[in-house]
Amino acid sequence: MSSMMQQGVQAPSRLQQAGQWMQRHGSTIRAIQWVVVAVYAFLILVPAVMPLPDGSAHLWNNLTLAAQFVFWGIWWPFVLLSMVMLGRVWCGVLCPEGALTEFASRFGRGRAIPHWMRWGGWPFVAFGLTTIYGQMVSVYQYPKAVLLVLGGSTVAAMIIGALYGREKRVWCKYLCPVNGVFSLLARLAPFHYKVNEDAWRRSYTKGEHGHRVIPINCAPLVPLRNMKGASDCHMCGRCSGHRDAIALSWRSPAEEVVNLGDKAANPWDTALILYGLLGVAIGAFHWTVSTWFVDLKQIFAGWLIDHDILWPLDATAPWFLFTHYPEQNDVFSWLDGTMVIGYIIATGLVYGTALLALLAAGAGMLGAWDTKRLHHLALALIPIAGVGVFLGLSATTVSLLRAEHVPLGWVTGLRLGLLAGANVWSAWLAWRVTGRYATNLGPRALSMLWFVAALAVADSAWYLMFWGFSR
Ligand code: SF4
Repeated sequence: MSSMMQQGVQAPSRLQQAGQWMQRHGSTIRAIQWVVVAVYAFLILVPAVMPLPDGSAHLWNNLTLAAQFVFWGIWWPFVLLSMVMLGRVWCGVLCPEGALTEFASRFGRGRAIPHWMRWGGWPFVAFGLTTIYGQMVSVYQYPKAVLLVLGGSTVAAMIIGALYGREKRVWCKYLCPVNGVFSLLARLAPFHYKVNEDAWRRSYTKGEHGHRVIPINCAPLVPLRNMKGASDCHMCGRCSGHRDAIALSWRSPAEEVVNLGDKAANPWDTALILYGLLGVAIGAFHWTVSTWFVDLKQIFAGWLIDHDILWPLDATAPWFLFTHYPEQNDVFSWLDGTMVIGYIIATGLVYGTALLALLAAGAGMLGAWDTKRLHHLALALIPIAGVGVFLGLSATTVSLLRAEHVPLGWVTGLRLGLLAGANVWSAWLAWRVTGRYATNLGPRALSMLWFVAALAVADSAWYLMFWGFSR
C-alpha cells in the first residue's frame, strides 16, 4: 500500500496492485523460475547428445530443430522485445541463469565483489566476445555449440554466484553478456518501480505501514533509495511497497533517456550502442549473406595459393574453436574462421566510427564541446539499435519458418514498418535530448541533420542485409 493511499488521497492503481501482487507472490515467481530452469536445461542438454537433423526433419518432429527454433527464433528476439515493453521482467521472473546464480549465492562463500569485476567495460566486452564466439562456432545452428555457449555462461554464472555475494545476482549485475543490452533497452519501458523520496524520508519516523521497516533483498544490488530508472532493476517486485515509498508506476517511454540520460550516460553505453549493437552485432548478421565476404575470401585464398601457403585452407580446427561438422558439409578452414572474426570486427569498427563521427558533429551543434552531451545523444539511438538486433535475430525465425514452407509474404512489410517506427522513435528522442541543451531551433535543427544522417547509416545495414546483398 502506498503512502498516498495511507493518507487516504488515492487508491493504488492497477499497475501498483500488479507490483504488490508480485511482492506477495515471491514463492510463485520462484516456482516459475525453476520450471524455466528445467525447460532450459532440457533444451540445451538433450539436443547436444542427439544426432544432427537430416533433410527430412521438421520443426514439429525433430527436437534439435524445435530447440533451435525456441532459442533463436522465439526466445532471443522476444526477450529483447519484452525489455522495451515490460522492462527487465525477463531477468527477475524468468531468466534461468539469474535464478541459478542467485540460488548458488545462497549457499556459497559470500565473498566481497572484487574490484576487477566492477569495471564498467564488461557489458561491452562480454557482449562483443560472446557475439563473435557464437559466430565462430555457429551457435544458431548446432546444439553442441549452444551447450558450450549457453551452458558455459550458466556454469560461469553459478560459479560467480557461489563465490560472491549472499543471495545476490552479482553475475547479472557485472558480467552477464547481455546485461548491458538489457539495461539499455529497459530504459524505454513504459513503467518502472518508482521511489517516492518524501515517503522514504517519512518512513524513518513512521515506519512501514505503521510497523518496523522490513529490509529488502534486492538481488541485482540496485541502490533502492536512489533508484531513478528501470535500467538496473530486474522487476522482481520484492521492493514494491517498501517503506511505503516504492510502487510500480507508469512513465513516459522517453523519460529515462531524455531526463535522466545526461547523468546516466557514459562512454561504455555509447560504445555498446555504436560499436556493439550497431557494429559488431551487424557484422555477425551480415557475414553469412555478404557478397563482400565471399569476394574477399576468394582474394585471400587466391593470394595464399599463389604464395604456396596452404595450411590456412585446411579445416582442422576443432568444433569448439571453428565450426566443424563434416557430415553436414559445414566446416570452417582457418582462413574462414579468421575471416569471420575479421569481418565482424571490421564491420563493428566501420559502422561504430561512422556513427560516432556523425553523433559528435550533431552534439557539437548544440554549443561548446561537452562529451556528456555526445553520450546523451547516443542514447537516442537505442530504438534503432534494439530493433536492428530484433530484426537480425528474427531472420533466423524467418529462415526456419521458410524451410517449413510457411507463407511469409508479410515479412518485408513488417520489417519496413518496424524500421520506420524505430527511426521515428529515435529521431523523437534525439529532438527531445537536443532540447535539453539548446532552446533555439537553429542549433537543434542542425544537430538533428547529423542525427538523421546517423540513422541513415544504421538503416544502410538493414538495407544491405535484407535487400542489398541478395542482388
Ligand atoms: S529494485 Fe531490486 S528488489 Fe526492487 S523490483 Fe527491482 S530488482 Fe526487485
